[in-house]
Amino acid sequence: MLLLKSVEELQIVLQKKRQKGLKIGFAPTMGALHQGHASLIKKAKLENDICVCCIFVNPTQFNDSKDLDKYPRTEGKDIKILVGLDNDVLFYPTVDAVYPKDLHIPIFDFGQVDKVMEGKFRPGHFDGVVEVVYRLIDIVQPDRLYMGQKDFQQFTLIQHMLQQMQSSTKLVVCPIIREVDGLALSSRNVRLTPENRQNAPIISEILHGLNDWLTNGGSIKEAEAKAITQLNEMPDFRPEYLEIVDGYTLQPIEQMEDSDYVVVCTAVWAGGVRLIDNVILKGGQQK
Ligand code: AMP
Repeated sequence: MLLLKSVEELQIVLQKKRQKGLKIGFAPTMGALHQGHASLIKKAKLENDICVCCIFVNPTQFNDSKDLDKYPRTEGKDIKILVGLDNDVLFYPTVDAVYPKDLHIPIFDFGQVDKVMEGKFRPGHFDGVVEVVYRLIDIVQPDRLYMGQKDFQQFTLIQHMLQQMQSSTKLVVCPIIREVDGLALSSRNVRLTPENRQNAPIISEILHGLNDWLTNGGSIKEAEAKAITQLNEMPDFRPEYLEIVDGYTLQPIEQMEDSDYVVVCTAVWAGGVRLIDNVILKGGQQK
């Protein structure tokens, strides 16, 4: 595996591959790699000639500086995982390389998509996400971009961004990889207390449980209220939001018939760790 820190070196390597007609898949991450990230890289390797993984803990997307300081950094372990996956190129840039002084990022209009849920509770977060993904795509110029369904609002926003850019890069969304007990894999899970780790699978249980409730004719408002009550009953858990929304616009819906693509998204504080999860309730790529 090639490990490159310089934008120029990476671009020279990738330009040569492109000239040979090779297709490039790209999986941007913030490191502390787990099987969720691995699933992106495996898919990118299957569907392209070259897989580029980026590890960059993007400071501009952390609305809370304590969260940035506490974000796990496991460079040595990450490199071993990537070598084990036969990843082709690891781009491991510095903050100055990603954000040179003369960098210009266009302004995109996402309507309400970046205002709700994560956008409401993490002000500025998506500005940072859009900034970094725009810049990384500009550097790598991938044929396909691999992102996880785990960050539902994030990939929805990036899809909008690619459309507005009229980009030739195709977004590929990969299903959520979970622990055997249902907890969605996240780099933040290692920071859970043993008790909160034990209780955390309740989040996905509750989200999946909504399927039965809604298929049996239960109302959306009642479903949301019921799920929030269940989460609040867990010691040390504090739901920030739980919303059943249209999967394209991320706007609330009143009944299941209002959309052919419905998803429930939540963010829950488990002690000092913020966990997000979602389940597609109707349509989309995955149940
Ligand atoms: P992160 O390092 O958390 O920024 O995540 C990098 C990419 O991996 C994003 O596209 C995430 O959506 C994706 N990802 C993170 N966790 C998972 C998971 N459990 N399953 C699938 N994809 C994931």
